Amino acid sequence: MVEHLQRYGVISSMKVAEVMETIDRALFVPDGASAYADSPMAIGYNATISAPHMHATCLQLLEQNLQPGMHALDVGSGTGYLTACFAIMVGPQGRAVGVEHIPELVASSIKNIEKSAAAPLLKEGSLSVHAGDGRQGWPECAPYDAIHVGAAAPEIPQALLDQLKPGGRMVIPVGNMFQDLKVVDKNMYGSISILSETSVRYVPLTSRDAQLRGY
Ligand code: SAH
Repeated sequence: MVEHLQRYGVISSMKVAEVMETIDRALFVPDGASAYADSPMAIGYNATISAPHMHATCLQLLEQNLQPGMHALDVGSGTGYLTACFAIMVGPQGRAVGVEHIPELVASSIKNIEKSAAAPLLKEGSLSVHAGDGRQGWPECAPYDAIHVGAAAPEIPQALLDQLKPGGRMVIPVGNMFQDLKVVDKNMYGSISILSETSVRYVPLTSRDAQLRGY
């Protein structure tokens, strides 16, 4: 899967190739699913695990902000796949936090991570996953060098902007029917610049009730 993404130019970074080889996607998809196919997959509760090329794209966009010792937040952490990748990249001196509003997905993501190469980081506490509304971020471990949002927001939540460190970067899909993957950079003086990376299709960042009703 990783070689395929490298061959097609999706992965150009060695570090991202390495981390996606270290964290085995097969441990994070439903049993029996074709783990290495390049497509999103339903994981229950009207949620999906993103396609490998989206995981790779987001990891590459955030690579400079996932250096050892840095703090990373994964909003809508779902299966826990990207949270585990973040934890490997920031290492034991860093902090990787997942926030997910479906408690069952939080529980299953912790089980997935326990089977993965990120298990020691979960045990030592540099990696954690919490049940909560990710639109509020996770203030306890803020500010963050990297924030990833795995669901499309109608607009960028202010709490997430506030929890971004000067010099930090957030990658967030924004929109409703039509969405853009936005790259939000906060400079050293705190001002924000936003670029659109590509068109995407994510499940909405919404309330738990709306999601369980089927939006
Ligand atoms: N990166 C994850 C993506 C999962 S899909 C993965 O690849 O596994 C998006 C996730 O966002 C879903 O699990 C959904 O339950 C969650 N979500 C949607 N709105 C949310 C909110 N307000 N707070 C926290 N999680 C939310």
